[in-house]
Amino acid sequence: MITAREITVRYGSTLALDATDLAVPSGRTVGLIGPNGSGKSTMLRAILRAVRTEDGTVLIDDDPIEALSPVQRAQRLAVVAQEEPSGLPLTAWDSVLLGRSPHISGWSSYRAEDEHAAEDSMRRAGVLHLASRSIDELSGGERQRVLIARALAQGAHHLLLDEPTNHLDVRYQHDILSLVQDLPLTTVVVLHDLNLAARYCDELVLLHEGTAVARGAPAQVLTPEVLTPVYGIDVRRLDIDGVPQLVFSPRRRRPQVEPIHHDDDVHSSMEAAPPERSGAIR
Ligand code: ADP
Ligand code: MG
Repeated sequence: MITAREITVRYGSTLALDATDLAVPSGRTVGLIGPNGSGKSTMLRAILRAVRTEDGTVLIDDDPIEALSPVQRAQRLAVVAQEEPSGLPLTAWDSVLLGRSPHISGWSSYRAEDEHAAEDSMRRAGVLHLASRSIDELSGGERQRVLIARALAQGAHHLLLDEPTNHLDVRYQHDILSLVQDLPLTTVVVLHDLNLAARYCDELVLLHEGTAVARGAPAQVLTPEVLTPVYGIDVRRLDIDGVPQLVFSPRRRRPQVEPIHHDDDVHSSMEAAPPERSGAIR
């Protein structure tokens, strides 16, 4: 399991996380949601110790993260960061094999078991056929699956993903998240799309300005009462096959007044300026 307790992170004068908790039971998938800048990526960085925390503790299973060496951390915790071109002339196979680095000592080369792990992971992520392709010429969805294969090859039981579905078409969004959901790993996934979060996460934690303002099953967190004040948008919820699905619309700023029509007014009202739209940006 992953336990982050009372994590406080400050970037200069910005308080990015304010004594925030996150707990992920073994084998579960917790979705971290919240508006831009609410502290989601910072929470992942705090778990990884990739940012200095002012306060708080992080446990991987029962071990404080500080007690683990960098190699031990990589054996326990894999990361799929936000999509970025590598700029390196790597094939998909090379890239996945790199995930084995924490399992080989010094400068020794990869062993047969590393190659088996890489092949098995690529098969599970559905990218074995891309093995010889250059990573930078893959589509966003293909590259994302290769990065997941690399995380799997790493053999860690804990997985952190930061917006893994960004820029992917709807089919790939669902493909990637069903893959993640089926993995028997303890997972934190940062998601923007609340409808994907509803479908693929066991639990959600909603961050707002560095604080967790709601947590629980998707059906508990994804309600208009919880979401509207945080996102500043009107939300309607439908439940489809037991999964909450949300429809968003701009918040109405003032009550709408029905226009008064007179029959002999039709012509002039058609020429009149269109009525102001509610929620228009000024
Ligand atoms: P999210 O991932 O939810 O969009 P972040 O965790 O990236 O949010 O950011 C939380 C807050 O910290 C934001 O106000 C952001 O501008 C700020 N922040 C993030 N990274 C840095 C950084 N490296 N330096 C300064 N401020 C940062
Ligand atoms: Mg982020």
